[in-house]
Amino acid sequence: KHTLSQELFRRAEQVLPGGVNSPVRSGRSVGVTPFFVKSAAGCRLEDEDGNVYIDYVGSWGPLIAGHAHPEVVEAVRQAATRGTSYGIPCRLEVEMAEKVVSMVPSMDMVRMVNSGTEATMSAIRLARGYTGRPKLIKFDGCYHGHSDCLLVKGGSGLLTLGIPGSPGVPDEIVSHTVSLPYNDLDAVETAFRKMGDQIACVIVEPVAGNMGTVPPAPGFLEGLRRLCDTHGALLIFDEVITGFRLAPGGAQQRFGVLPDLTCLGKIIGGGLPVGAYGGRRKIMEHIAPTGNVYQAGTLSGNPLAMAAGLAMLNILSRPGVYETLEERAAYLEAGLARAAEEAGVPVTLNRVGSMGCAFFNGEPVRDFQSALQSNTEAYGIYFREMLARGVYLAPSQFECFFVGLAHDREALDETI
Ligand code: PLP
Repeated sequence: KHTLSQELFRRAEQVLPGGVNSPVRSGRSVGVTPFFVKSAAGCRLEDEDGNVYIDYVGSWGPLIAGHAHPEVVEAVRQAATRGTSYGIPCRLEVEMAEKVVSMVPSMDMVRMVNSGTEATMSAIRLARGYTGRPKLIKFDGCYHGHSDCLLVKGGSGLLTLGIPGSPGVPDEIVSHTVSLPYNDLDAVETAFRKMGDQIACVIVEPVAGNMGTVPPAPGFLEGLRRLCDTHGALLIFDEVITGFRLAPGGAQQRFGVLPDLTCLGKIIGGGLPVGAYGGRRKIMEHIAPTGNVYQAGTLSGNPLAMAAGLAMLNILSRPGVYETLEERAAYLEAGLARAAEEAGVPVTLNRVGSMGCAFFNGEPVRDFQSALQSNTEAYGIYFREMLARGVYLAPSQFECFFVGLAHDREALDETI
């Protein structure tokens, strides 16, 4: 039953334009069942019509500890009760920054912003200011948010997010972005050989979450590190998805390769809008007034957001958390693989730590709606089966999952 959600969907269409994650887009993506969430707790979502789903994307990533975690709720309540200040220093921002640099191995200093997009955009600006060079290398299929300079080469590769030369995207930006195949170190080397003295930075998702949890080829991150060092460019890890997820210190800790700058988002806000970027002191001090790179933000580091983020990072700092995540994700992976085999559906699963993605016939699913409507394709059957079980996975791109602390054995068993 989706009566109330359908009514909301009709209203949303009148006032909300499309775009990834908009109600209209999500409604269409889910196709037969647009739903609007009324309440959520732990890993369960309840929609306006009272249907219950198990949330396997943690609201697209941030809610690794589950919805309405009591400690996060209480921290935000206290901060709100004390009153908020925007753009005025507060203790919580200092404590949050101390916490973040204590967890992320490559960071001495960190700057708070409001989203993952702001983090990547600002890190690139800093890299350009620090090196005095204009160009950046990004990889096809790695998504770094919705700023122009990162969308021009096709965004995630799964979505048509931006077209080179399209209105609103200055040619100057297009010509400064070099987009290469992910995991292709030779292509990076060639680009550096051709224009090394112009390249400010290489930005990469250390595990390509937006292509469906594609891990780095052996030696790839190490190779990027070496090439950046040789040519005087900065290496930026976009850890918006992987940060605090693959290890307390993110992918860089898990793989043992340290970037110059790290971008964070999603989990860092505990469900409120927070992003951050940081690195070694000598680079971060290039931000004005000690340096010449502009950075600002009315809402950056605000007490509500800092309270939520700090509560979240404290939860993740407890002993055994990452072992629990790993164990639950392995359990889900094995169960899904078994279920797929029994059903004769050609699903393979890519998993790195607690993030994973289902591939059908070796390909990630690109279009959820046609997957759902497809009667002949195995993945259509699989998707309908998942929805029938009330499992909510990433609806618009592919079937990805982020296993969180709230996914208890009961939820996992129900899914499998
Ligand atoms: N970088 C990566 C790897 C992401 O997955 C995302 C968002 O999904 C972003 C950056 C952008 O973050 P936000 O949506 O908070 O702007």
